[in-house]
Amino acid sequence: MAGIVAVFDFDKTIIDLDSDNWVVDELGFTDLFNQLLPTMPWNTLMDTMMKELHSQGKTIDDIVEVLKRVPIHPRIIPAIKAAHALGCELRIVSDANLFFIETIVKHLGLSDYFSEINTNPSYVDEEGRLRIFPYHDFHSSPHGCNLCPPNMCKGMIMERIQASVASEGKKKFIYLGDGSGDFCPSLKLREGDHVMPRKDYPLWDLICKKPPSRQGRNPRMERRRGPRERAASTHQHNFHGRGEQVVCGRMQVRDDSDGCP
Ligand SMILES: [Mg+2]
Ligand SMILES: [Zn+2]
Repeated sequence: MAGIVAVFDFDKTIIDLDSDNWVVDELGFTDLFNQLLPTMPWNTLMDTMMKELHSQGKTIDDIVEVLKRVPIHPRIIPAIKAAHALGCELRIVSDANLFFIETIVKHLGLSDYFSEINTNPSYVDEEGRLRIFPYHDFHSSPHGCNLCPPNMCKGMIMERIQASVASEGKKKFIYLGDGSGDFCPSLKLREGDHVMPRKDYPLWDLICKKPPSRQGRNPRMERRRGPRERAASTHQHNFHGRGEQVVCGRMQVRDDSDGCP
């Protein structure tokens, strides 16, 4: 399976929920989060929430302990290790932040399996407060993509990854994601690549509602109905044990696992 690059979203794809929400909720700051959410971009809000946590006595160790308890489907780790063992190159593209992802990936024993983590930068400052910043500085250099949040266009990251491996010969990409932010990078896929949207999550719905081939955005990415007509390009997310199994790049599709409704 050498020659395959599997690009993973993180929240609700590798782990079973959103790490930002998990930390805020578990530390008891849900009400404040919901109160501030309409007033600023999500990425800015998370940095603000880390400030609030810090000012109310929550330490970086408290955050780490919460991150270590994050729920993950039991098939995820074996699937990642199997894909890696088969020679797939694994990368993460996530709108969470580097501290959360590295803490969880390390705790799960997966640090050596991913060659790259593309996400919002973060660091622990001298006071012990976690600072979280946007991947793209949307004040000085807005990315200009109207599909994506201001702090991160995953499609641009996908294009950079595609360009970075172009000199290594023909590569096949598999993109795994769940959220609306995963739609843009899915549109960057080319003939022979695959997107694996988590079933019944926003990316799945977006592809079902607006198949890119019908929008004329990317005629190479197809979706068709029914098992017999299953498009080569779009597959139900296998990771969560409902319907399909995958060995990186080779799908084993159950006859009763239908495509989009
Ligand atoms: Mg996600
Ligand atoms: Zn975008």
